[in-house]
Amino acid sequence: MVLDPTVWLDVPQEVSTGTLPGWERVDELVREAHARYADEVSGEVADYIPVLAAVDPELFGLAVIEVGGGIHDAGDALHAFSIQSISKMFVYALAIQEHGHERVREIVGVNNTGLAFNSVVALELNDGHPRNPMVNAGAIATTALMPGATAVEQWERVREGLSAFAGRPLSLDGEVYASEAGSNERNRALGWLLRSYGRLAGDPDEIVDVYTRQCALSVTAHDLAVMGATLADGGVNPVTGERVVSADVCRDTLAVVAASGLYERSGDWLFEIGLPAKSGVSGGLVAVSPGKGAVAGFSPRLDEAGNSIRSQMAIGHLSRSLGLNLFASAPAPAHAGEARVSSASEGERS
Ligand code: GLU
Repeated sequence: MVLDPTVWLDVPQEVSTGTLPGWERVDELVREAHARYADEVSGEVADYIPVLAAVDPELFGLAVIEVGGGIHDAGDALHAFSIQSISKMFVYALAIQEHGHERVREIVGVNNTGLAFNSVVALELNDGHPRNPMVNAGAIATTALMPGATAVEQWERVREGLSAFAGRPLSLDGEVYASEAGSNERNRALGWLLRSYGRLAGDPDEIVDVYTRQCALSVTAHDLAVMGATLADGGVNPVTGERVVSADVCRDTLAVVAASGLYERSGDWLFEIGLPAKSGVSGGLVAVSPGKGAVAGFSPRLDEAGNSIRSQMAIGHLSRSLGLNLFASAPAPAHAGEARVSSASEGERS
């Protein structure tokens, strides 16, 4: 099922004014979006990681964090779940912060694969060069860039870095880690394939283990919104005030996320919602509005590509009602008259 945009067509498409409406209005709109999709039951919970299949599919949280620090949590916004693929965007940001734009770009590309997130074919078709850091092969190659003399140190760097984005110490969900570590043959195969092409330094099994841990970090929709809002705020966490990465890193990361954040549905998402966003198979989704803030959802039922359906609906709704769509504009008042004249003269000519 490709996302059905008719679910929110009655919501007026507000155009960005450069800032969010006041706190009260944002809060009202967050509550409205949460209530509107609360009864939506389409999609299936991920089951390829055994422990994820056991989650309560009814959970539904929504959160907005403003760059000014304003907080809006609705429903199960404080329910903990494993971050999964959403970790990829933050580890990528840490990698660019550490190694710079050019070097990371040489190692991992920036174009969409058009194929599933765990595709082996995508790697084979590209001479073993991972096409982007939002699919598993590229994410494993990105995790390998984390500084540290050992895998333990690299893992610590990932955990600390993602904790700085979240503004609180994040911890590993041991049950999710054990479940995934016992069933991640495909990711280990990707690690070894990267190695066979000479594109992974270090022991593939150890790097995939760090990657598996990063995916099992426990977060809430509220945390994801804080993490996303840090990328919206030029790299400064709007809740703690700590600088986590540079503004240039935020720009690079959001561009890559816009192209590939919703797997092979990234174009559909950008067309309908118009925001850089990243999803994960446990049901999380975070969309970033540069200069304004971030919206995050959590709801475990997914579409076939692995994207949370209710989170897409609620965030799509808020993209319209909060005026977040990067591509939406209206003629400036000074030009509105000219636009009318020009369309009238077009009409006269025809
Ligand atoms: N840990 C998951 C995997 O590697 C993440 C997948 C996802 O969220 O897309 O398969």
